[in-house]
Amino acid sequence: MSRQLAVGIDLGGTNIVTALVADDGQILGIVSRRTDACRGADCVVGEMADTVNGLISENSVSQDDVVGLGIGTPGPLRLSKGFIHRSANLPGWENVPIRQWLQEKTGLSVQLENDANAAAYAEHWVGAGKDFGDQVTLTLGTGIGAGAIIGGEILRGHFENAAEFGHTIVELDGRPCSCGQKGCLEQYASPGNIAKYAIEQIRKGSESSLGPVLKANGAFDSQAIAEAARAGDSLADTIWDEACRYIALACVNIQHTVNPEMLVLAGGMSKSGDFLLGRVRQHFVAQTWKIFEDKPKIVLSNLGGNAGVIGAAGLAWKAHRSGAACLNTATVK
Ligand SMILES: [Zn+2]
Repeated sequence: MSRQLAVGIDLGGTNIVTALVADDGQILGIVSRRTDACRGADCVVGEMADTVNGLISENSVSQDDVVGLGIGTPGPLRLSKGFIHRSANLPGWENVPIRQWLQEKTGLSVQLENDANAAAYAEHWVGAGKDFGDQVTLTLGTGIGAGAIIGGEILRGHFENAAEFGHTIVELDGRPCSCGQKGCLEQYASPGNIAKYAIEQIRKGSESSLGPVLKANGAFDSQAIAEAARAGDSLADTIWDEACRYIALACVNIQHTVNPEMLVLAGGMSKSGDFLLGRVRQHFVAQTWKIFEDKPKIVLSNLGGNAGVIGAAGLAWKAHRSGAACLNTATVK
């Protein structure tokens, strides 16, 4: 008997990852292509559909064995309409009816989701938070994406953009954010922003072992900061520790708003492993309340960089099992 599969797509500002995923979350085929968002949404969506159709035929999968397609994209989205409303990561994309376009071009039922929600769903489905019904995932990437799973379902809220913890304000009149607010968490704790901040400090004359790295390469990332901090670099340690303190602050705020059993740290910064987790846990204990024992477990993602694409496919599986996929298919012309 042939094996059924779902297609997952993780649409990012830099890359589009497309995968065939089995009902246990296992990836059976995966392709990553660069996102050329400036060429226009219709052109990029057309190429995405070609990639999906190519992946299905290259892996000798019958179209009848594909249960559906899930796509995680940067937001904000209009989920009920299947639109990408607008995205800082996809310049020029406005009110793109991506669900309908993909359904028309692939013939598959399509589930659209915010990319950070898709990653959070993956952690709940097959990742570090497997079998935990109430959990929040913070994806520490270029910015900070977040998704909350409550009672096994993605928390959406009335305007369908709940759990944007990366844009919770942690400093009044703080650093400006690309979202238009000031003082957002991601300005103080995302890997992209802490690297930017460290580079600024070195250019202003701060002593650091990262100075020669900056001179040689023109830039460095948050992992370089973690490595320098581990090796005893004072500037790197101060910046890394401060980022961990802000992430812990966010965990306390999430504890008091969502009250999850588990918090999962994912994304590029989680590659620093215990050097991230240990500091965050330490600052969490220092900051959280002392009057009640409802402290969530804080853990690292175990899905590597593939949480987004696995979660997107997982949502296609979920829709298939619930019968929602059949309803979506009926709208394909
Ligand atoms: Zn913001």
